[in-house]
Amino acid sequence: MRAVVTGGAGFLGSHLCDRLLKEGWEVLALDNLITGAEKNLAHLKGNGRFEFLKLDVSEALHIAGEVGYVLHFASPASPPDYLKHPIATMKVGSLGTLNALDLALAKGAKFFLASTSECYGDPEISPQHEEYWGHVNPVGPRSVYDESKRFAEALTMAYHTHHGLDTHIIRIFNTYGPRMRLNDGRALPNFVYQALSGKPLTIFGDGQQTRSFCYVDDLIEGIYRLMHANEHFPVNIGNPLEMTILEFAERIRKHYRPAPEIVFEPLPQDDPKRRRPDISKAKRILGWEPKVELEEGLKTTLAYFAQEYKSTK
Ligand code: UDP
Repeated sequence: MRAVVTGGAGFLGSHLCDRLLKEGWEVLALDNLITGAEKNLAHLKGNGRFEFLKLDVSEALHIAGEVGYVLHFASPASPPDYLKHPIATMKVGSLGTLNALDLALAKGAKFFLASTSECYGDPEISPQHEEYWGHVNPVGPRSVYDESKRFAEALTMAYHTHHGLDTHIIRIFNTYGPRMRLNDGRALPNFVYQALSGKPLTIFGDGQQTRSFCYVDDLIEGIYRLMHANEHFPVNIGNPLEMTILEFAERIRKHYRPAPEIVFEPLPQDDPKRRRPDISKAKRILGWEPKVELEEGLKTTLAYFAQEYKSTK
């Protein structure tokens, strides 16, 4: 019952470590901290079943002792982050995945890949189901993330079919919650940072592009169920409640007094116009669906960010 979580100091990785520890696992978290932060794991200091190692999983990955599960969550995930670290993003999706798979193979462990709705690119169908092959620009700015995750999925399937490795692939749709990095470039942390610092909220394009936001606890529940399922092909996990980014900004701005203004800025290249998960597969094979209402999740998240903002002052 020892799990290795790559990207363990990240937003999702750290919540996953918490859940695994709660379920009785020993956890080794690995992170090179380019976008993760040790403070996300600070509350686990002194927990005898938890260990953290600062290392880059794109380099060689040798871990002593038994390992029962390797969960590969390491990667920059915010568009500005992967644009800032394009090569590191491609390395962790390719070499990092290869190293994590080899570790699982060497230890006789199961393997879990954190993939993404970005595999669908700027989709021509909505909602997106798992059989859709996607619409990705292979040389656009987002390709460093999209294509390395698509490669990671292909590599994971190859280890499953060729080596018989017990593998799982989740396609994660937009997720939010405590431990996102304030101002990390994604819509929610940007809007909240702007609201807290008295700046206008920046909407890219006309704000009519859509996203569907899943609260982190729901996502982690989906991950935990998929870890134990007999399913090797990708499974979408996300909240199907779709809204425009303008509506989303409105939902956030009404939490602040005075409510911040909204300004419009150019839409980044290849920004997907629609994104909404088809979760019928997750419902069918995992009995999973999201439970946390947007207002409820926002309340917890905004309280976390208010605290974070205060501590930076
Ligand atoms: N977005 C925005 N203003 C911001 C940050 C993002 O309008 O300050 C838009 C972005 O162009 C995209 C959507 O919000 O259409 C979600 O962006 P995010 O970076 O959160 O994630 P994505 O779903 O694009 O990976």
